[in-house]
Amino acid sequence: MIPGGVNSPSRSYKAVGGGAPRFFVRGEGAYLYDVDGRRYIDYLAAFGPLILGHAHPALVRAIRQAAEEGTLFGTPTPYEVEFAERLRAAIPELERVRLTNSGTEAVMTAVRLARAYTGRSKIIKFAGAYHGHFDLVLVAAGSGPATLGVPDAAGVPAAVARDVVTVPYNDSEALALAVERFGSELAAIVVEPIVGNFGIVPPEPAFLEAIHRLARECGALVVYDEVITAFRFRYGSVMPMLGTRADLIALGKIIGGGLPIGAYGGRAEIMALVAPEGPVYQAGTMAGNPASVRAGLALLEALQAPGLYDGLEAKARALADGLLALSDRYGIPLQINRVGGAFSTHFTDRPVRTYADAEAADGALYAAFFRGMLRRGVLLPPSKFEAWFVMVPHSDADVAETLAAAEATFREMAA
Ligand code: PLP
Repeated sequence: MIPGGVNSPSRSYKAVGGGAPRFFVRGEGAYLYDVDGRRYIDYLAAFGPLILGHAHPALVRAIRQAAEEGTLFGTPTPYEVEFAERLRAAIPELERVRLTNSGTEAVMTAVRLARAYTGRSKIIKFAGAYHGHFDLVLVAAGSGPATLGVPDAAGVPAAVARDVVTVPYNDSEALALAVERFGSELAAIVVEPIVGNFGIVPPEPAFLEAIHRLARECGALVVYDEVITAFRFRYGSVMPMLGTRADLIALGKIIGGGLPIGAYGGRAEIMALVAPEGPVYQAGTMAGNPASVRAGLALLEALQAPGLYDGLEAKARALADGLLALSDRYGIPLQINRVGGAFSTHFTDRPVRTYADAEAADGALYAAFFRGMLRRGVLLPPSKFEAWFVMVPHSDADVAETLAAAEATFREMAA
C-alpha cells in the first residue's frame, strides 16, 4: 500500500541491508515496543525531535488538554504568542518568528525570504547537507568547489538546480571560490551550524567565520538550519556556543515536543516582508495549531530543568567512550563525533569532517552493527549518516545494557 512501506524514506532499512523495517506500537521513556511486544532502548529519538523520551507526563498532559479544548481553530491563539515569546527569550536573534508545520517549510520559507530581501536567486548549500524535501535543497551533487548543482531527486527541474551552488562543508577555500564566482547572484548561504545529517560534524572555527564574512562581503544572508541543533545541545540556539549570529534561523523537530512543527525567524526588518505585512507569501492551515504549540510550551518548560543538558552529555560521553574502547578491543575501525548528547558512529579509520569522509565510512559494517544491536534490543538509526540522540530518560543501566549489546555485536562482527 505505502511506497517502500514507509511514510518517510529514511525509515526504511534499505541502507542497512534491506528487508522490512520493524513496526512499533508504543513508546515509554527511553523505550520503544514493537508489534510483537519486544522492548528496545531507543537512540533514534524519531530522527531528532525527542529529547524528553516517549510519553513524557507533562507533554501528555498538555496534548490531552489541547485535545479536550480543541486542536485546531483557524484563528490566532494566545498559545502561539506565548510560544513565540518563549522562543525569543531562548533565542534573542529571533526578533520575530512564524510557525510552520515542519522543518522543510521553515527552511523553504527562510530561503524564499532571503531571496525576496536580496532580490537574488542563488543559494549556497553544503554537500550532503539535508534541509528538507523542497526542490531547491534536494540538490547536493557537484561537490567540487563552485559547481552548479544537478538535481538529486527525479522531478526536481534542472532550472531549479541551477540556482544551487554546492560546496564541501568545512572547506573555506571552496566556499571563497564559490562566492567569488557567484557572489553577486547569491541570496543566502544555508548551513547547519553543527551538521546533524551526515553524522554529527562540528564546524571548524575558521569555516563559520568564513561563511559570515563572505556572506557579508557579497550581500547575501546567512540562514542557519537549526532544525536539529536548537535545544538539542543547550536551551536555545547553538549560536552562543559558536560565537556567531545568523540573519534567519529555521527550527523544527524538538520544539514541537513530538508533534509536527517548524518555525523560522530572525531580523525584524527581514521578517517584515512576510505576508500579510509584506509580499512574501507563506501560509498553513495547520500552522500554529494548539496541540503542537501547547506540547511545545510544555517541552520548553521541562527543558529548563537544572542540569538537564549536562546529564545528556554525561550519558553520551559514557556511551561514546565505551563504544570506542570496545571497537578498539575487537579491532573494528570506528570514529565517533560527539557534541553534547548527540553523536555519530562512522566505521572508518579517518576523522569525519566532510560529507565525503562520511560517505567513505563502511556502510556494510554499520549495517552489521545496526542489525546486531537491533537483535539485542537497541534501536539505532537505520543509516550510517544519522546520529544517535541521548534522551533524558536514558539511565545508566540503559547505557550499560547498550554497551553490553555493542560488545556482543562487535565480537560477532570480528569473528
Ligand atoms: N533541516 C534539517 C537539518 C533536518 O534534519 C530536517 C529533517 O530531517 C529538516 C530540515 C526537515 O524537517 P522536516 O522533516 O520536519 O520537514
